[in-house]
Amino acid sequence: LVRIEQVHKSFGHTPVLNGVDLTVRPGEVTVVLGPSGSGKSTLLRCVNHLEKINAGRIWVDGELIGYRERRGKLYELREREVAAQRRAIGMVFQQFNLFPHMTVLENVMEAPVRLRQGSKSAIRDRAMALLDRVGLADKVDSYPAHISGGQQQRVAIARALAMRPKLMLFDEPTSALDPELVGEVLDVMKGLAQDGMTMIVVTHEIGFAREVGDALIFMDEGRIVEAGPPREVLANPQHERTKSFLAKVL
Ligand code: ATP
Ligand code: MG
Repeated sequence: LVRIEQVHKSFGHTPVLNGVDLTVRPGEVTVVLGPSGSGKSTLLRCVNHLEKINAGRIWVDGELIGYRERRGKLYELREREVAAQRRAIGMVFQQFNLFPHMTVLENVMEAPVRLRQGSKSAIRDRAMALLDRVGLADKVDSYPAHISGGQQQRVAIARALAMRPKLMLFDEPTSALDPELVGEVLDVMKGLAQDGMTMIVVTHEIGFAREVGDALIFMDEGRIVEAGPPREVLANPQHERTKSFLAKVL
């Protein structure tokens, strides 16, 4: 479902991604580990073209992201075409970014309503079903400020799902949470994975990586230095960088 080929990305003269290759098959969960500054967030942001790439190609569900290719040359897509591609890709960040002046239900309904993806009542029914799925049926009329961080993050997940994405990207979704709230968010993500959602998850939650991940990649200095089944990589890391990183987080 996702194919990343030889992606290079620099900020000014600083290379941040140095030839990243990655394939994620439909229904697979790929967990991304790596030290701060290794390019994990940048890689996710390239997948939905929040960042332009300097070289390489990214396909999601067969569509070249951000560009049109003609005679071997890439031409950047218009903002409207990029927006259409992004709709198929849900993204959840460390910060929940909910609309503070909208209720939980309104937050989940906002994008489908704005894009007129059906009748208001159909959108409402679906939003309610999604909020039920993330365990928040009793919070639909609350405002973000009045629910916990874990609940806010679950709203953010429901809001992303409201667009019926083919792919979900998670960038350290539990890093801003109090430890006792981490589990409820990971449980929702695990449920999504079991329902067959294709996901790329940047996280330091090793238990999640081991239990839910189909593949684990370890990034360092803008490269994938190690990749494989999570249990194997975690139990028997091959590279020095992976070993020393795991020694710190395990
Ligand atoms: P962390 O674990 O801290 O979130 P990360 O692996 O997600 O780190 P990135 O955020 O992808 O790392 O950043 C990779 C490198 O790119 C860093 O050196 C960072 O300073 C740099 N960088 C990221 N975004 C920008 C930007 N918009 N402009 C300039 N440099 C940037
Ligand atoms: Mg990051």
